[in-house]
Amino acid sequence: MSEKPIYVTQPYLPPIEEFIPLLQQIWDSKVLTNNGPFHKQLEQALCDHLGVKHLALFANGTLALVTALEALRITGEVITTPYSFVATAHSLLWNNITPVFVDIEPRTLNLDPARIEAAITPQTTAILPVHCYGNPCDVDAIQTIADNYNLKVIYDAAHAFGVQCQQGNVLAHGDLSVLSFHATKVFTTFEGGAIVCPDAKRKLHIDHLKNFGFVNQTTVVATGINGKMNELQAAIGLLQLQHIDQALARRAEIAARYRDAIDAIPGLSYVPGAGQRVANHAYFPILVGDDYPLSRDALFAKLMAQGINGRRYFYPLISDFPMYRGLPSAQASDLPVASDAAARVICLPIYPNLQANDQDRVIEIINDSGARSL
Ligand SMILES: *Cc1c(COP(=O)(O)O)cnc(C)c1O
Repeated sequence: MSEKPIYVTQPYLPPIEEFIPLLQQIWDSKVLTNNGPFHKQLEQALCDHLGVKHLALFANGTLALVTALEALRITGEVITTPYSFVATAHSLLWNNITPVFVDIEPRTLNLDPARIEAAITPQTTAILPVHCYGNPCDVDAIQTIADNYNLKVIYDAAHAFGVQCQQGNVLAHGDLSVLSFHATKVFTTFEGGAIVCPDAKRKLHIDHLKNFGFVNQTTVVATGINGKMNELQAAIGLLQLQHIDQALARRAEIAARYRDAIDAIPGLSYVPGAGQRVANHAYFPILVGDDYPLSRDALFAKLMAQGINGRRYFYPLISDFPMYRGLPSAQASDLPVASDAAARVICLPIYPNLQANDQDRVIEIINDSGARSL
């Protein structure tokens, strides 16, 4: 293998020279964490950029999810999707909440609102949907069910940075939305995350929860955790934000080229999304159909052999992991759409610095493998 490996994603790092002055400020101020100047600036900058009123930064998205559930005092059972990154359901177990898996819809691969009601029991307190791959959930249908049954809605919006759905800002729906700024995400602070909240009072409560429950030096009002983002992370976020528009534009170009290529290959399709007004092209998932000459795993292996590290997001399903598979809602037979998607999907490499000739290599391999004469 002569060529260098291509990963499914690669962080978009601004020139290091732009980071040095921020680093210098941290060294000068000696403020490293605990709601320092960069932390405050990034909260405001992200509110402005994302068009939300209040947002609390976190050290990572998983702590933000765990804290969001704690903030709304969610207990009992929570309806969620098996087709996600494992942290979605883990955040429930960390709060002693029982996940109830409900199948997804085939078009968006998001939680299917038509199947939610049948899963509601007297123990159900909330719905935890995921805007999978940055494709918005059916937020209106989910809210209607939540209102009818008096349930909270917390969106795992880890993939949905900057997405606009038909109803406007995707982050404006539900009681809370949780973002992840992990290295693999569209917008990164290396590790990081945030809770988007509708009002100042809730944000203040969340700010207490992420700082051990302290409200001042001597008063602790809740069993809080240490979820604080530090100044280095916040500085990186501020810098990233200056480059995010061009990074998203480049992702859109790459996605358009993939779509053109896939349209011409029988047996392959891509997840069409939910017709969002603004997409972020965080992922490029393709589905390997029965009339493609190779199975998903054979195509995946072939790409790997050529140094192209696609990812089978999300295989296995969360409901197949050992701590979940004994749950009554974890039966694969009750989750046919999710099981099928997990068996067919490969996420292709997409990131701002993906070179055109590298994308050509990816397309060439899936195209050649699709030729019937082979
Ligand atoms: C990345 C991700 C998370 C977890 O975020 P971290 O910042 O890595 O803790 C949660 N949910 C989904 C769907 C994710 O993709």
